[in-house]
Amino acid sequence: MTFITRFAPSPTGPLHLGHAYSAMLAHDMATAAGGTFLLRIDDLDKSRARAQWEEQIYDDLAWLGLTWETPVRRQSDHFADYDKVLQKLSKLGLTYACTCTRRDIETAANAPQEGVPEFGPDGRIYPGTCCNARHALSKAKCIRLNMRAACEHAMPASFEEGGPDQHGKHALDVETMVSTIGDVVLARPNMAASYHLSVVVDDAATGVTDVVRGADLFGATSIHVVLQKLLGLRTPHYHHHKLIRDDTGKRLAKRDDARAISKYRADGASPADIRAMAGL
Ligand code: GLU
Ligand code: ZN
Repeated sequence: MTFITRFAPSPTGPLHLGHAYSAMLAHDMATAAGGTFLLRIDDLDKSRARAQWEEQIYDDLAWLGLTWETPVRRQSDHFADYDKVLQKLSKLGLTYACTCTRRDIETAANAPQEGVPEFGPDGRIYPGTCCNARHALSKAKCIRLNMRAACEHAMPASFEEGGPDQHGKHALDVETMVSTIGDVVLARPNMAASYHLSVVVDDAATGVTDVVRGADLFGATSIHVVLQKLLGLRTPHYHHHKLIRDDTGKRLAKRDDARAISKYRADGASPADIRAMAGL
């Protein structure tokens, strides 16, 4: 059985201890399984991606002792692939043009019902205003997935979680998907694909069998599984790992430059020190 995993950072800032943990864990798992470790550059958001950060990613990971297959896949080279997949979903009648501004969505969602969540893994749950409006594509602020229709098409669907927290098989349920996630964004005029659409296309295109990533993305996994089913792609195994937190218990973010790998390097830390700090 082959094992192919990947580390997929966005080049929008320095890698910190949390990234190093994720990359080293995925690399260790690939090594242990006699498998393959891939590096992918998630530079979908061209307004935030910088060549300087991409260079720093290569530099930091090499310093940590990681090796990866080349050429490295970069999302910005695959906008046409995402578009093709979007067309496919649209031909299935599962997408629609949404003209809502952020303000519109907040106003429509203003009368939250008791027991109904306001936010999902994709931010504020869209109230569905434009679902049957048949807006022209030219007017769209974004393209959304009709989650109910998509789920009905995709079911039955499930995924296997190998990580420590939610270990086991997770079967997806239509009503839960609709009420806790809703009609997620698939693309915007200035962005060829949302994170959800691109990650599904990229993982399949590179033959990823095992996705190793932070627990913060566990909630988005069911979105990815629905898209995989709709597109006839195999669902990989998932392994969501603990998040590295700062002393106050907050999850590390890109702006936590104090924990940047480059900063530790400059201060004289060794790759073994980084491993120990990450708890590997
Ligand atoms: N580029 C995404 C991130 O930085 C990758 C997420 C994933 O591994 O699916 O969070
Ligand atoms: Zn709308």
